[in-house]
Amino acid sequence: MQKIALLGLGNMGSGIALSLLRSGSQLAVWNRSREKGQPVLEAGAVWAVTPAEAAQNADIVIAMLADDTASREVWLGERGALRQMKPGAFVIECSTLSLKYVKELSAAAAAGGLRYIDCPVTGIPDAAAQGKLTLLVGADAADLEACRTILQTFSATIRYFGNIGTGTMYKLIINLMGAVQIAGLAEGIAMAEKLGLNRNEVMAAMEDSAAASPQVVRYVRKMGEKKFAGLPAFTVQLRHKDAVYALDLAKEAGFDPKLGAVAKEWFAKALGQFAARDEAYVIEAVTNG
Ligand code: NAP
Repeated sequence: MQKIALLGLGNMGSGIALSLLRSGSQLAVWNRSREKGQPVLEAGAVWAVTPAEAAQNADIVIAMLADDTASREVWLGERGALRQMKPGAFVIECSTLSLKYVKELSAAAAAGGLRYIDCPVTGIPDAAAQGKLTLLVGADAADLEACRTILQTFSATIRYFGNIGTGTMYKLIINLMGAVQIAGLAEGIAMAEKLGLNRNEVMAAMEDSAAASPQVVRYVRKMGEKKFAGLPAFTVQLRHKDAVYALDLAKEAGFDPKLGAVAKEWFAKALGQFAARDEAYVIEAVTNG
């Protein structure tokens, strides 16, 4: 049986770990904050004291971390996983990262004789726990085939875009489009409020409109009723990070996504007060100008 390590037990990583364990995988886990590991340890994972320790005997090491800074620390840092991995093992990066950093990390993996799968995801934490994520893969085609069985334990769909980095490119495009839709919804709701329209009628009409994308449907009631109950599925901070990475990527390609840039500004404004809150809180920044 293949030995797997998972680095990062936040909302998404914990869900992926539970899906891997349900499939019978032998799983070592590490997270910066030990307490978040408890549910996964109770489900059968083995705790490692450092990323390097988690990775040392693994055939496949998967990471699900906040951003470039976190990923750099966990793979390339003093106690980083790359230091201990055995040649030929797989590095599967599921975090949403900048393309520039993905190139750096994948080159470091290749220099160590490792095989890199660029594997950002779409889907909320519940989908991770139910094994229903969509994976956006950029990798050598043979490497993807070699990992497909493991990837299928936490995904319902695997989309293959081409070489390393292409999964990240698509992920940043789609998340910038998401930022535009969510910020646009917040503007619509704020404008309807300023005009004194009937809130219930507006929310019902928006849900049923030609502009009702899944993002709009997901957030219209949360924003309209200002009810943000429960754990955030996706935070203001993560949406802002993705928009920044996407705009950097666009700039490198000589493209200027103007709508994306304005949407990023709304999330930047919301960061001050609501960084760790659900991204629907962008409505507060938009309403208060
Ligand atoms: P999260 O709950 O905030 O978890 C973030 C993880 O990164 C935690 O394990 C955290 O450790 C770790 N981390 C942060 N800074 C670190 C550092 N400097 N060193 C080491 N570890 C660090 O976020 P999430 O929702 O699971 O998202 C994880 C990734 O998936 C992100 O790249 C996000 O953009 C992407 N994503 C999220 C969703 C979603 O709906 N949530 C959907 C698709 C993709 P601690 O526990 O110690 O803080």
